[in-house]
Amino acid sequence: MGYGIRYEHGIFVQSIEGGRQVELPDNWLSRGNPWEVRRAGLSYDVGFGGRTERVRDGRGRVHVQWIPEQVVKGVAHDTPIVGYKVETVNTLRLWRSESPESFDLDAFNKGDYDGSVAAQVDSETISKVLYPNDEGDLGKVLRLKQQYFFTSCALQDMMRFHLRTGGNPASFHERYAIQLNDTHPAIAIAELLRLLVDVHGLEWDTAWEVTSRSFAFTNHTLLPEALETWPERFFSQLLPRHLEIIHEVNRRFLDEVRIRVHGDPGPIERLSIIEDKGERRIRMANLAAAASHTINGVSSLHSELLTERVMSDFYALWPEKFTNVTNGITPRRFLKLSNHGLVDLIGSRIGNHWISDLDRIQEIEEHADDASLWEEWQAVKRQNKVRLARRIGRATSISVDPDSMFDVQVKRIHEYKRQHLNLLHIITLYNRVKLGTYAGPPRTVVFGGKAAPGYWMAKEIIEAIHAVARAVNRDPAVRGILKVIFLPDFNVTSAQEIYPASDLSEQISTAGYEASGTGNMKFAMNGALTIGTLDGANVEIRDRVGAENFFLFGLTADEVVERQASGRNPRDIVDADPELTAAMELLSSGFFAGGDPDWFGGLVKNLLTNDHFLVLDDYRAYVDCQAEAGGVYLDQSEWAKRSILNTARVGYFSSDRAIHEYADRIWALPQNPPGSSLLD
Ligand SMILES: *Cc1c(COP(=O)(O)O)cnc(C)c1O
Repeated sequence: MGYGIRYEHGIFVQSIEGGRQVELPDNWLSRGNPWEVRRAGLSYDVGFGGRTERVRDGRGRVHVQWIPEQVVKGVAHDTPIVGYKVETVNTLRLWRSESPESFDLDAFNKGDYDGSVAAQVDSETISKVLYPNDEGDLGKVLRLKQQYFFTSCALQDMMRFHLRTGGNPASFHERYAIQLNDTHPAIAIAELLRLLVDVHGLEWDTAWEVTSRSFAFTNHTLLPEALETWPERFFSQLLPRHLEIIHEVNRRFLDEVRIRVHGDPGPIERLSIIEDKGERRIRMANLAAAASHTINGVSSLHSELLTERVMSDFYALWPEKFTNVTNGITPRRFLKLSNHGLVDLIGSRIGNHWISDLDRIQEIEEHADDASLWEEWQAVKRQNKVRLARRIGRATSISVDPDSMFDVQVKRIHEYKRQHLNLLHIITLYNRVKLGTYAGPPRTVVFGGKAAPGYWMAKEIIEAIHAVARAVNRDPAVRGILKVIFLPDFNVTSAQEIYPASDLSEQISTAGYEASGTGNMKFAMNGALTIGTLDGANVEIRDRVGAENFFLFGLTADEVVERQASGRNPRDIVDADPELTAAMELLSSGFFAGGDPDWFGGLVKNLLTNDHFLVLDDYRAYVDCQAEAGGVYLDQSEWAKRSILNTARVGYFSSDRAIHEYADRIWALPQNPPGSSLLD
């Protein structure tokens, strides 16, 4: 079962006006949704605010009662998730928030027309709109309300099913494993304790045992600013009972910690679920880690850095809780559905058993030296590029050449992902073409991705890409050699056309910042060669495809930390490299900005004074590595061979393998081996 919120408006639609991102509301439900089933009879009440009361029962035991001030109703909306050639259909159950009474007739009769619908409007706000991923913790009460709303509905649903099918509250963990997808649903820990203790009357120790055997926690990011903390006053206001429960969890947890660390105040302070300096805050990652039986990262490097950096105190306490599950992607969507040409071609040589047992796609490797396959392989790629070129033409009115190298970076816009490093390379190529020193193949560089609406620098990067694109695309001196495209509104639909049409996959994040990446896997599976750093799952992709089939550059995660602490002056790096000097000068001169040198002032100044993500430090290695990639591309047979080996060797990155690992090593489920399809 997958649980979530049935947002009326999902992630915003990105439009570009005058080279800038404009956010438009996403109206995905405006024409109805035939796949979902509204389960009007399946709903739960969720409380907010109010106060707690202590009452003594007949046997003298004290019970806590939470008397909420507001109650909203969560109504289930189910979407069947149908397995590929198996008899399993899972459920995606999303909750819509509604008012328990839709209309206050009393208020209406007294002439209060606004008031008569106010409760309904307020209740429905909770599932109205999704907060964009990278907004950072802007301390929004509504977001905490969303988190509690969805986890409370989900837990009540699980408990109802458990009790109706013969379970009792104390055996909940024997029937349910709950995987926390990042810290966003971590409030579920306090909610399960509340249900077990306050509603079902379990003793605290039993409730804690059940809870800590139910939950496991997946961390998804190494960015410290992305670890959620909530001001305690939000809890007092919204979830007073959960605040009491969290304090009790923390009190008992710190009692154990104090003994284990011999009273050393450093780790005690860092491990505490409550941050006590300044305004008191609840650390959701600490709550998740304290209550979960297993904690995992999403790539080998990420899981290692998790134990060494972000969660090192928890690791010192409980090393046995930590493990890795490298992410995967579904080969049904990202290969079978989106790349018919390649699927048919692979099928013509090795059959189609690999679609549900992706390790077996490796069998195509036996044909990697077959020159006729190289030609057919590149012909499929060209067809996919023609299809993408049509989309680009429709969206931007710019025509691109399907015989040029498609060099593609599509992902959310973020400084750590370094779209601006790619941009400095483009400016360098532009300068080389103008100087007559460019020796590589014609290139079409494609960008796509949304910036969080409040992330100023990410939006400036989008603007800079557009400005450079405008100048490059209209300069006759580089016509036929260099094109720069920003494809607006990158989403899964456009992704399905982009990955199959890519020659070169840009995975150039600062080492130590990308937890895993999954775009890197989708590109490689579709035969793109990667230019990338030793970051996230790039490390494992390179291990599997072979170092000779991967364009590696840049500082390692350890070197990044050293360099950031070195007190280096980014200006010295620029001064020591004439091509970088030229690129930075062109960017800051106003050449791309209609002569206004202040246009990218923020971006340029950030690079020259701070450059936290080491764009300038990795520039030379990146540009040289790009030249090597360009050189290989000129030899289409060599490129085709390496492309085939990429597809052949990334079967490991199937989501089937990843889910199998969760089921086996974290949830301890008995299960069938992969590929044991019932309907084949
Ligand atoms: C795969 C995917 C991502 C993740 O891309 P990364 O390169 O791993 O950051 C983001 N958005 C969409 C639409 C995707 O399909």
